Amino acid sequence: MAGLSSAPTEEDPRLSAVIRPAARRFAEVVCPPEVRADDRTERVLREFGLMLGALPAAARKALATALILLDQGARVYPPSRGRRFARLDDRTADAYIRALLARHDAAAEMVQRLKGVVTMCYYDLPEVQREIGYDPAPYIAAVSRRRLETYGPQIRAGEAAVTEGLPARGQPWSAPSGLTSQAEIAGDLKLECGVVVVGSGAGGATVAAELAEAGVDVIVLEEGGYHPTGSFTAETGRALRTLYRDGGGGMAIGRPSVLFAEGRCVGGSTVVNGGMSWRTPTRVLDRWAEQEGVLAISEEDLDPYFARVESLLSVGLQDPETIGRDSELFKAGADAKGWNIVPNRRNQLHCAGTNSCTTGCPTGAKRSMLVTSVPRALSLGARLFADCRVDRVTRSGPAVTGVTGHVVRPGGRNGPAITVRARTVIMAGGAIQTPALLLRSGLRSASGQLGRNLSLHPNAMVTAFFDEDVTGWHGVHQAFQIREFAAAGLLLTAVNLTPTMLAGILPAYGRELGALMADYNRIVTAGPLVTDTGTGRVRNVPGVGPQVFYSLADRDAARVVRGVELTAEALFAAGARRVLLPFDGAPEVRSPGELRRLLARPVSRRSLQLYSIHLMGTARMSEDPRRGVTGSFGEFHGADGLFVTDASLFPGPIGINPMETVVALALRNARRLIERRDRLGF
Ligand SMILES: Cc1cc2nc3c(=O)[nH]c(=O)nc-3n(C[C@H](O)[C@H](O)[C@H](O)COP(=O)(O)OP(=O)(O)OC[C@H]3O[C@@H](n4cnc5c(N)ncnc54)[C@H](O)[C@@H]3O)c2cc1C
Ligand code: SF4
Repeated sequence: MAGLSSAPTEEDPRLSAVIRPAARRFAEVVCPPEVRADDRTERVLREFGLMLGALPAAARKALATALILLDQGARVYPPSRGRRFARLDDRTADAYIRALLARHDAAAEMVQRLKGVVTMCYYDLPEVQREIGYDPAPYIAAVSRRRLETYGPQIRAGEAAVTEGLPARGQPWSAPSGLTSQAEIAGDLKLECGVVVVGSGAGGATVAAELAEAGVDVIVLEEGGYHPTGSFTAETGRALRTLYRDGGGGMAIGRPSVLFAEGRCVGGSTVVNGGMSWRTPTRVLDRWAEQEGVLAISEEDLDPYFARVESLLSVGLQDPETIGRDSELFKAGADAKGWNIVPNRRNQLHCAGTNSCTTGCPTGAKRSMLVTSVPRALSLGARLFADCRVDRVTRSGPAVTGVTGHVVRPGGRNGPAITVRARTVIMAGGAIQTPALLLRSGLRSASGQLGRNLSLHPNAMVTAFFDEDVTGWHGVHQAFQIREFAAAGLLLTAVNLTPTMLAGILPAYGRELGALMADYNRIVTAGPLVTDTGTGRVRNVPGVGPQVFYSLADRDAARVVRGVELTAEALFAAGARRVLLPFDGAPEVRSPGELRRLLARPVSRRSLQLYSIHLMGTARMSEDPRRGVTGSFGEFHGADGLFVTDASLFPGPIGINPMETVVALALRNARRLIERRDRLGF
């Protein structure tokens, strides 16, 4: 690869001599001036190497190439007088970066992305975080203690309920028996079972536990590693590299492109998600029944499954002492506007309010699959292989015969081969990986819909600055949702971001970024989640792998802008002094009047800074094989023994957090499989 000596790993993150000087200069320009203190620049470069190592090869190559182009491109920038970027003095280097960003083209997008990654690396340094008043470890320790002191017996009872009455096969926290990780696999593996499940997230872990309970011989293959609760901290960079696919930096290409994140670890995205747990809205279920003919999907049909999800995952309201100041301000803003705002329902067992859901819950309070259905499935006899990536579904004629894949060694290297023979294959890799895997296995849907119809609930983030101390990282992740505009396809929420994540998205660099981040403890970040009408597509691009394309509809772009406006209005009503909007080049806004004047002019669609954590719809259910990829219960149209049970199944966006829907469908579909097990032969 051009720019790096080798794909860097946690052990060897060194940048090659080709890009190192430019990367160093770039870090000095885009990070606050204090980056030059002590050995900080060196450590930023080390982090940068680690982050590049977490990216897929194509993205790594693209960023390395972007650095080379940025370095050499400076020669034709007149004020540089023929010097490369690494050789420019501070003022010229700064002017050059500013000129590149102002172009609003593909080059600007690349520089923006590089800036995001490098400034994230800077704000991931612990002493930099302490300088801006962020020191989560003592806080986490204190509220975790408080949680156990206040609710110890209920917590112990709730945790025990996961495997109550089941044969004891090990401790869920440490190394449960039945779970095998890459270090324990020395050579090629050939396995046989009744049902093989690909992925251990919301859909996969749930279906595995249900089938195992019915006595089915189940194997789960999970590409990500096993990271127990005791390993979780608030260290964002490390979490992005170990718990997320591609360091959390997926990119749906379009105008604008949309950043997205997928979990990749035992427990899948549920390990890093916010824990919001809501039933599918009735109108959405009705639409699925009417438009796609989906059977047994009414509210009445799903009611028992929702109730079971809520019991299995301890879904409920937060204890009041865990509501942080950022959430209170957000609610105060909504109340002042007279808007409908509701407390969030979350899958948590006396959540401690550490606000570190996205880096893995350090208390186990968030009832992710890692601490519920995975230990349950293992206790019931399922076998789970972590660090095992499935490459293909194998077939004989129209019937599936199992899967093949390989062990993933540290640094992403390919290890021994894995072959699992099974007459039933259940795909639960999530809405990007499931269609990508099926397509690369040569499967096609007569409907042409496999990999298409991707919805992603675009989000945008408003950053509001208050005079008072907010300390948004004290308290639960997202305590409320503004529902006032649900009919218009908008949900508004406040979500505290770690300094690492915030630095990556703020529209500033250098000294200006430092000044914004110095106010970290007086910031509230909030924004709209949009029910989208446009769709995207997953394709396997040769040399790149799965690539997502997404086209934001004009109507959705207008919704994003309206959602941003409403969010900013609520934050002003709560007392914000100024807000930053997620539109490239937008000036800071200091009052509702300024906001109105700014938004009276059209906002270019391309300038929207969007991200997504809700990916859905790429193997949609429909009883009509000309419209859908699977039938009503996840059975793949046109392949015997192949099922899908993850967020790919949704015929369209649901306008609410999707996890509970995925789990409920997995429970329902597992029931159906069990009823037909004789016919399916397992
Ligand atoms: C940061 C974040 C916050 C979120 N917050 C919320 C929230 O608060 N509430 C909510 O309802 N939803 C939330 N979501 C979304 C929710 O977590 C997902 O919708 C849900 O987990 C999807 O379930 P799934 O089974 O489709 O996929 P996942 O849970 O993502 O699981 C898929 C698993 O399959 C594995 N896999 C993929 N390909 C392969 C392969 N080839 N071989 C082996 N294994 C493979 C992956 O590594 C992964 O572990 C959030 C998501 C993220 C990323
Ligand atoms: S806020 Fe999230 S990470 Fe913290 S205890 Fe609650 S569920 Fe766990």
